[in-house]
Amino acid sequence: MGRGFGNLGISRSLAVVLLSALGGSLKVVGGLVYGSRAALVDALTSIVNLLSALAVSKFEYLSTRPPDGDHHYGHYRLFAGGSIAALVLYSTVGGAMLVELAFGAVRGYEVHIYAPLYTALGVAPYVLAIALSKGAGRSYQTYVKFTSIELIEGATVVASSLGGALLSYVIDALGAAALLAYLYFEIAVETRELVHLISDRAPTHILSEASRRVRREVGVSVKQLRLREVAPGRYQGDITIVLPRGTSVEQAHDVARKVEEALGELGIEVVVHVEPTDTEEILRRESSATVLSLNR
Ligand SMILES: [Zn+2]
Repeated sequence: MGRGFGNLGISRSLAVVLLSALGGSLKVVGGLVYGSRAALVDALTSIVNLLSALAVSKFEYLSTRPPDGDHHYGHYRLFAGGSIAALVLYSTVGGAMLVELAFGAVRGYEVHIYAPLYTALGVAPYVLAIALSKGAGRSYQTYVKFTSIELIEGATVVASSLGGALLSYVIDALGAAALLAYLYFEIAVETRELVHLISDRAPTHILSEASRRVRREVGVSVKQLRLREVAPGRYQGDITIVLPRGTSVEQAHDVARKVEEALGELGIEVVVHVEPTDTEEILRRESSATVLSLNR
């Protein structure tokens, strides 16, 4: 859920959007006009898939804007707007369909034989969308994967609405329940990911690589490095480096700039704090001196 079109070309994205909209519309007919609740769940999730992909793309774009007067650390976190929009949309569909399905299951309903037909027709544009998405690079894999799930859902709906039309509405209701369960699963996964990301998680996987890089490329030792992930692949934090006593402000500034550059290549933005080599010793001596004077 909630994959953007960030890496697709404009015309290709437009084609994918239009094909997805066409597929969604055909499923809406199968659901609203011909009575299949399974088709209705599938149609609504297709439509919110599309809307949330658009929202994700918009927020991905907004998050790349440089820092300004009201966002001193950049706009990276705005990317979360896409996930939040997706969660709101999916939860709305989930709640509406839960009530609809409960009423349908209790009162019973009729599925017309045209429902599986329209759903099957609705699957075709998604096959085209997948074909378009392929060969568009590695970042497309997520979109392909997500659209493949659409196809599995499409097959589920065709089978269950066909059963609903020929045998009993219960088969259609079971198909709808399966799709709804998967929708709630997706909501849970997405919520979990979002909460983790905005919790200022430390990127432990690049922490040692970052320290090593500073040591190797700039030649200074790192006393402390604190980082947090602000957006996928974007990190901000602070670093404490140790320089020889008597280093001039100009030299220290030059080293700090090199540290910033070396880490910048890893997507890391840091504030550099400089300490002279033997600070700890001095501090220890100062504190023991304090103890001595207290004893006196
Ligand atoms: Zn701003």
